Amino acid sequence: MTAIRTTCPYCGTGCGLLVTPDGKGGIAVKGDPAHPANLGRLCSKGTALAETVGLAGRILAPQVGGQPATWDSALDLVADRFRRAIADHGPDSVAFYLSGQMLTEDYYVANKLMKGFIGSANVDTNSRLCMASSVAGHRRAFGSDTVPGTYEDLDCADLVVLVGSNLAWCHPVLYQRLAAAKVARGTRVVVVDPRRTATCDLADLHLPLAPGSDAALFNAALVVLADRGAVDARFVADHVTGFGAALAEARASDPALTGLPEADLATFLDWFSSTEKTVTVYSQGINQSSSGTDKVNAILNCHLASGRIGRAGMGPFSVTGQPNAMGGREVGGLANMLACHLDIENPAHRAAVQGFWASPTIADKPGLKAVDMFSAAGSGRIRALWIIHTNPAVSMPDADRVAQAIRACDFVVVSDITATDTTRLADVVLPATAWGEKSGTVTNSDRLISRQRRALPAPGQARDDWRMIADVAARMGWGEAFAWPDAGAIFAEYAALSGVAGGLGRDFDISGLHQADYDALPPTRWPVSAAKQGGRFFGDGRFYTPDARARMLPITPRLPEARTGNRYPFRLNTGRIRDQWHTMTRTALSPRLSQHIAEPFVEVHPEDARDLGLAPATLARVTSPEGSAILRVSITDAVQRGQVFVPMHWTGDTAPSGRIDTLVAGVIDPVSGQPESKAAVVALQPF
Ligand code: SF4
Repeated sequence: MTAIRTTCPYCGTGCGLLVTPDGKGGIAVKGDPAHPANLGRLCSKGTALAETVGLAGRILAPQVGGQPATWDSALDLVADRFRRAIADHGPDSVAFYLSGQMLTEDYYVANKLMKGFIGSANVDTNSRLCMASSVAGHRRAFGSDTVPGTYEDLDCADLVVLVGSNLAWCHPVLYQRLAAAKVARGTRVVVVDPRRTATCDLADLHLPLAPGSDAALFNAALVVLADRGAVDARFVADHVTGFGAALAEARASDPALTGLPEADLATFLDWFSSTEKTVTVYSQGINQSSSGTDKVNAILNCHLASGRIGRAGMGPFSVTGQPNAMGGREVGGLANMLACHLDIENPAHRAAVQGFWASPTIADKPGLKAVDMFSAAGSGRIRALWIIHTNPAVSMPDADRVAQAIRACDFVVVSDITATDTTRLADVVLPATAWGEKSGTVTNSDRLISRQRRALPAPGQARDDWRMIADVAARMGWGEAFAWPDAGAIFAEYAALSGVAGGLGRDFDISGLHQADYDALPPTRWPVSAAKQGGRFFGDGRFYTPDARARMLPITPRLPEARTGNRYPFRLNTGRIRDQWHTMTRTALSPRLSQHIAEPFVEVHPEDARDLGLAPATLARVTSPEGSAILRVSITDAVQRGQVFVPMHWTGDTAPSGRIDTLVAGVIDPVSGQPESKAAVVALQPF
């Protein structure tokens, strides 16, 4: 059988796959050597995909009130409850909570229904937990959510600074690419992370800075750039505003906040100030913070001041966690954005989108972001909530309270592929197609739009997400605007809308892509317009602000909001492990992947373990002001004294029990609304 070209459903690296169905419901999976993101490489998770496509645990039919139901009765009920909530309590009484696992076409349809037809911007996504601070930082500095970096920049950089990113485990193929570049050209690698992770194997320098002190580090870097003549005065004069204020604030901040040894800090500042071809890669260690947006802008300040942006081998580069976090951003899947990077607060942008959709209304103010959305569901402000492909009862901060809010909400629909803690709380459960069974596009971390293609039939009564949403829209009276025959037609409409955005001077324009290209669409980096093709963003020094100049911002470093003390003396860091994905609904199906690490654990420094009386491989109770978990003790000096690390994947309630987000408070960044998932305070005791 001919291999089908598709894309991995896991991380934002966006690796291309060759998938061959065996005709008996199974598949064989190989890396696609022609895909520019991975050139044939795969990590353990991608390699094990064939082991995860069985029907174990799948939801195969609609359920209403826990009982099997027909599609018609389930969709009638969903449309009726949403319509009644809107009629009785207004459009802001309903909400969608989406996922970076969704395909762009699914995202587009959900966003169109909520913002253009229901008239609310209550559409948010689990990407809020992942990269909302990057989005906000980009928008403040560039006037648009434009990621300037590409993977090719890693191939030709002389210095790569990885900040808050365990690339080796979270983006393994990207890590392999960086390792190859290091061999080929001796690229220097600096890892900035409180924990010594697997990524440090590649590091020439590891900076185990104090949790949350990243802005102090990059403020110090800005000062050194200025003092050593590494500021690009012409670039700043022609294309940047705010340099003086940003530098003054940087001079006022104290590098000692980082807690780093002076010699290591000096080495970093030497390398950073003297290496033109520098890429700063950052991820959740930056974003998942109550000051995440400021940290992002502290990094962007350095690249703007030095003019190291928009040219090969240099620039700030946010790498996304999920396969389609970027597609969700592009399509306006966040509560504070319109489709195609148009601004919800901009009347001309709103009019353009409403005109294109010929819609009866358009949301005119930002909607509720994830944490606030679930609070509103718990307090009765949200009366009808549709959760798609995500498991917030486990993955949201303060997860027990979120589960309680879902339980308390009048009406909850969940579409997913398998039963989860969240489907168990739903009034209606809708069976969705999974990776391998559905067709559409995703955008990876470096703006590459790739096709996911169907290789297997939909099992049972499972349906594509876009079709369910369109069917509900039709039942609510808007069938004509939601009458696409297939995902390709949705993509064509979306691409045409992006042309409207391009006409308004926005960055996201894929109007060069047409429905006729869709089936054979090769991986394509946007923008794709003739003028920009092959071009780089910001190479011309033009940004998407009203005066086309980038903004540097004065950044005052702020440490995590919760402070350790006698009662909760440890700082809790959270993150991924190499072989599991999110809440393990797919990866746990692979015995091979489960062999890597079999149960949830807590990493404790040897001296802390001794003081607490914790022995290796025993159990410890970890308690925060929000909740507690029982975890297997792993004693290691990879964590610093006073800090502990736990993985985020496990969901069980029996010991060892790893529902870690029950320990994390719902503290958010005031600009981005992203939760501070890596800085809870906890106490430990033997269990
Ligand atoms: Fe999939 Fe990411 Fe691994 Fe590539 S690096 S195979 S996208 S999980």
